[in-house]
Formats: sequence, C-alpha cells, structure tokens
Amino acid sequence: MKAGILGGGLTGLTIGTHLNHDFEILEKNKECGGLCRSITDQGFTFDLGGGHIIFSRDNDILEFMKSLVKDNIIENKRNTKILHKGRYVKYPFENGIGELPEEDALHCLTHFLSAANDKKAGKHTPPSNFEEWMYQTFGKGIAEMYLIPYNKKIWNFEPSKMAVDWVIDRIPQPPVEDIIKSFLKIETEGYTHQLNFFYPRDGGIASTVNHLESKISEKIKKNINITKIEKKDKWIVHHDNGVEKYDKLISTIPVMELLGYMDDVPEDVMKAANDLKYNSLINVLIGVNKSKINDFHWTYIHEEDVKFNRLIFLSNYSPNVTPENKSSIAVEFTCNFNDEMWNKSDDEIINHVLSGLERKGIVNAEDICYSKVVKSKYAYVIYDLDYKKNIEKVLNFLESKGIEMCGRFSEFKYMNMDACIKSAMKMANKINGV
Ligand SMILES: Cc1cc2nc3c(=O)[nH]c(=O)nc-3n(C[C@H](O)[C@H](O)[C@H](O)COP(=O)(O)OP(=O)(O)OC[C@H]3O[C@@H](n4cnc5c(N)ncnc54)[C@H](O)[C@@H]3O)c2cc1C
Repeated sequence: MKAGILGGGLTGLTIGTHLNHDFEILEKNKECGGLCRSITDQGFTFDLGGGHIIFSRDNDILEFMKSLVKDNIIENKRNTKILHKGRYVKYPFENGIGELPEEDALHCLTHFLSAANDKKAGKHTPPSNFEEWMYQTFGKGIAEMYLIPYNKKIWNFEPSKMAVDWVIDRIPQPPVEDIIKSFLKIETEGYTHQLNFFYPRDGGIASTVNHLESKISEKIKKNINITKIEKKDKWIVHHDNGVEKYDKLISTIPVMELLGYMDDVPEDVMKAANDLKYNSLINVLIGVNKSKINDFHWTYIHEEDVKFNRLIFLSNYSPNVTPENKSSIAVEFTCNFNDEMWNKSDDEIINHVLSGLERKGIVNAEDICYSKVVKSKYAYVIYDLDYKKNIEKVLNFLESKGIEMCGRFSEFKYMNMDACIKSAMKMANKINGV
C-alpha cells in the first residue's frame, strides 16, 4: 500500500513521520513547512507565515512539539499588550481594564457586570452571530472599545456576519471576580493555557517542521505543480514532471485547490467551495538598529488609523533571532487575496508600516535596517454564517470519493499547530489500521 500525501506543511509532514506504510509527499513549493516556514537573512530570523508560538492545552501534544526542537527551546512568560488610545493595556483586554482611563474602565466593568447578570438571570437568547456573542459575553464596554474593532480588523469581515460556534471553546468566559480585580488593579491572567509559551532559540518556528522533514526527506517531492487528479484502479496524480499512482490519497492542501484538480465535481459542491471564506496575510519583517524596543512579546492594534493588526516583537521571543544590538518586529495585516491591499507594491506596504510604527510611537523610520514583505494567500479560515452548510457539502463529497482530508485549509478549520498535529496523528493511525 502506498499513500500519496498532498502538501508538505506541518500536517503533511506529521502524517508522513507517523505512517507505517509506504508514502510520498507532493509539495508545491521549493521548501516544505507551509505556514511554519522561517527565513534567516542578514542575521535576522523571521517566521514567514506570521508570528508563531508553541503552546497547547493538550500536554501530550505540547511535549511532542517541544521534542521536535529538543534543547533548542526557550520558555517565555507572555507579556502581551493592546495599544489603546496611546497606552499599553494588558492582554486579554478584560484582564487589563484597570490600565484604562478611569471612565473607560468603569464603563467596561459596569457593562460586563450587567451582561453577566443578564446571563445568570437567563435573559440571553442564544447569540446568532459573533458580534452578539461578544456583547453577551463581555458587555457593551469591552465589546465596543476593543473586541469588535479588533475582530473587524483581523477577520476583515463584519463580526455580525460571522458564526458563533467556533468561538465558544476558543475564547473562555472570564470569571466575574477576575474582571473586578482587574478594575481594582489587582493582577489577573486570562487565556492561561497560553500564558507560558515556547519558541525555538535558533531558527524560528521552522525548526519544528525541519526536524520532521529531516526524518523523511527521501519521501518528499518538491516544486510539484499538480495539474489533474483522477481515480482509476489507483489514485492518479498528474503534475508537470510526470504522474504518480497511489492506493490512498490524503490531502492537506486547501480544499478548493484540491477540487480544482478534479473533473467530476458537481456544480453545487464547487459553488459551496468557492463560497468558503478565508483571509490572506501580509507579514512585514522589520529589523531595527536598537538592542531593545520594549519588553512585549506581541501587541494588538485595533485602531483604524493603521492597517496592521498585530506586531510581533520576535527578538523578545529569543535573543538569537537578530544580530547583536539589533531587534526585530513582524508586522501583520490581513486582507483578501488579490484585493487592493494585497496588490500594493512592497514599497507602498513598507512605507505604510514605517509611517504607522512611527505614528504609534513604536520605532522611528530612521532606525529601520531591514525590511521585507511576505504574503500568504491562505492564512485564516473565516466562519461566516454559511460556513457550516458549505463545508459540510464539500467534505461530504470528498468523503464519498474516498479522499482523506487533514489540516488547516483541508479540513477548513481554525486549527493551530497542536490541532494539526493531533489530526495528523489520528489520520496516520487510521491509515495504519490502529
Ligand atoms: C498569522 C498566523 C499565525 C499563527 N500562529 C500560530 C501560533 O502562534 N501557534 C500555533 O500553534 N499555530 C499558529 N498558526 C497556525 C499554524 O500555522 C497552522 O495551524 C499550521 O501551520 C497549518 O499546517 P498545515 O500543514 O495544515 O497547512 P499549511 O501550513 O498551509 O501547509 C500546506 C502545505 O501544502 C502545500 N500546498 C498548497 N497547495 C498545494 C498544491 N496545490 N499542491 C501541493 N502542495 C500544496 C503548501 O505549500 C504547504 O506546504 C498561525 C497561523 C497564521 C496564519
């Protein structure tokens, strides 16, 4: 039995390293790793697919991820902020309201308590969209001051047009006591599963996928441009350099790309796939001629005067990712593939970033010694109100064809590295017959 794995990102590589059968990975790019790739250029190491940290609620998976980089690892205690009206507020925002101007803090607390009381009294009807969920869970103050503008920016989509089921497990309901403490300036922490996080000392997040790749490198074909996929007695994958035959096909590539290679996709399935929504990422890598910018790991920016939504201060993750006496920032924007922002030239994007960073008081343009723009077409799955209907139709069709789907844009789910690894291990077990 030979399995063909489409895509050599974290998911494809994890499946490969856990299979007992013969297999081959077909990767479109000249290198594996997908969103977990990193580069080192002029002494600066950056993650290409946005800032990545190693964390998980699942201890076994966390240990697995840490084992990929062995001793090449640093543990950090999160120090993350939200830049609000020129001041840095502790993240998550609800745990930082004591750092807001007094009247804003009181406004957030009053509405949080009133929403919590309404919930307790059973006054809430189940929220029908993400925006309603934010109002019900955090109250009008926190929702309107931070959550709604930030989510509008990162999703590049109206929260009132987004579904709610994906968020319930992801963003926990904060305890009332914590928010009162936070108002009283007594330190509390939210999202505690991510409070301590890990990062490779050298080589960026790619150190994880590089380790997986090194175990199976002879089974990987890179620079593969697939042109057609068909099922005869075996799965036949046609590409620019030839044809591969597999008994089993596992796809970790974006689901709409997979369907594009198949001839027999019904119109309604293709339409459902085309109606799935996702965001693209522009990641601007910045080197700074200063040994320290601040002590933060990352900062969220919800204000609309700049287009970027998150700044990753990568040199605070590991001292080894910059040359001596320099520091670095990765500046993230989300946009739609091929929209106005995506199509801006690198110079225009860099100019926007430099003037934005200066305006926000983060660094001055004259201190910048390195800049590079990196774009990722597939970055975030958007759970719009038709998501469930569309993804079910698409995945049911692929299941009926017998193609196994695994990974962030294949299952088309908001999956972090831990969820991809878990899903990949489960897939390998299924193929192995465990
Ligand atoms: C901005 C951002 C920040 C993130 N931060 C974190 C974080 O801090 N911690 C965390 O745990 N997770 C984070 N993630 C999530 C993490 O990146 C993903 O969960 C994980 O990398 C997905 O791996 P994958 O293999 O499923 O998909 P991908 O990484 O997308 O890999 C898919 C692979 O398939 C290849 N491919 C695509 N099309 C084809 C084709 N037609 N033919 C052949 N090959 C193809 C691609 O080149 C790629 O190598 C973040 C994601 C983003 C976007």
